[in-house]
Amino acid sequence: MPFQTLGLQEPILSAVQAEGYTEPTPIQSLAIGSVLQGRDVLGCAQTGTGKTAAFSLPILQRLLEHPHPTKKQADHHARPVRCLILSPTRELTAQIGEAIEVYGAGTGLSHTVIFGGVRQRGQTRALREGVDIVVATPGRLLDLIGQGHVNLGQLEVFVLDEADRMLDMGFIEDIWRILSYVPEHRQTLLFSATMPAKIQHLANAILRDPVEIRVTPETPVIDTIEQRVYLVEWANRSDLLKHLLSTENVTRALIFTQTKRRADVLVRELKLAGFKVDVIHSDRNQQARKRALENFRSGKRPILVASDIAARGLDVDDVSHVINYELPREAEVYVHRIGRTGRAGSRGVSMSFCTLEERTLLTDIEKLIGQPVTIIEDHPYPSNLPRLTKKPETRPNPNSVRSNRRPTGRRKL
Ligand code: AMP
Repeated sequence: MPFQTLGLQEPILSAVQAEGYTEPTPIQSLAIGSVLQGRDVLGCAQTGTGKTAAFSLPILQRLLEHPHPTKKQADHHARPVRCLILSPTRELTAQIGEAIEVYGAGTGLSHTVIFGGVRQRGQTRALREGVDIVVATPGRLLDLIGQGHVNLGQLEVFVLDEADRMLDMGFIEDIWRILSYVPEHRQTLLFSATMPAKIQHLANAILRDPVEIRVTPETPVIDTIEQRVYLVEWANRSDLLKHLLSTENVTRALIFTQTKRRADVLVRELKLAGFKVDVIHSDRNQQARKRALENFRSGKRPILVASDIAARGLDVDDVSHVINYELPREAEVYVHRIGRTGRAGSRGVSMSFCTLEERTLLTDIEKLIGQPVTIIEDHPYPSNLPRLTKKPETRPNPNSVRSNRRPTGRRKL
């Protein structure tokens, strides 16, 4: 189904074509028409599904079709913002801003990004000049609203992206405060990778008769990823990692650790071993994070160690390997992490390190993704701990056939 049939027109269509998109992704097919009609949308989708374009393309077209009457406001007053997109992290905000730059290239609409960690002068200057679309993280946006730099009084479209992560990061109060500056009569789009009760409540409170869209995370992401889990003792993980980075056909690897500190320690170790590596986490300043991303994208430093928050939603093509140096405690985080590879139809590999104690986490992961993962015990740094020949004392996994397992080697659980 071509993009035209969804109701998109020039110049948006040319931008889509220039990006090389031939067909809409499922979420785009489902969302674009409704957003164009002005409907509210509740979208259950994670990054990697094309959701940024799913909301950006129709929003740009709508803003273009209905020019704002107050365009020529005196310049000492902030011109009213027409569309606000809230996102949880600086990286995601910057990424959405870049997407809007590309998709909106021929529209003449203006946008800016607002996030903390950098001087606010550049951001306030853009606001003074007047912007149609603001992409922002909640904290800095509230600062600027408080200082009178942002006028949301005539907002037409409000987008809340990655709502579940916003909640996890404690932004709920900020979201309510921001909403208090926004007119009640508006179009609202809410996207979230998961739909826990809290998100449902938020959605019920801020959406009016929304079109509900759900794209299952497994379909676009998991099918193109070869998932392996290496059983390894805690102390041997960095040796195993170095071995894999040297022997696997790694062109670009994203490595996740649980904490910033462990990320720093690991980076030091990998550097000492001669790997071209950088690190991205919330203690690094914006310049350093930006540089790390650029070096990762360009291939100058093709190994990037990251904490979850920093890496959430990173849009880097051709990540050949995602490595879970530590298994995340929530299965959903696992899905988000490995979703950085195997994107847009290419194949990817995810390698997760798992200690014997962490094996129960695998059960949850397999349940969520609805398929077994391949366990590898046979590698140069095998676990000295006794192998699991009897059933673990946790909930049994309906997908597993543990009783038939071979004692070592690579196999399906
Ligand atoms: P997102 O889920 O918004 O982070 O998008 C994931 C990736 O898919 C980005 O690199 C987009 O450029 C790409 N993408 C979005 N829509 C399409 C499409 N219709 N065809 C091909 N790639 C797309």
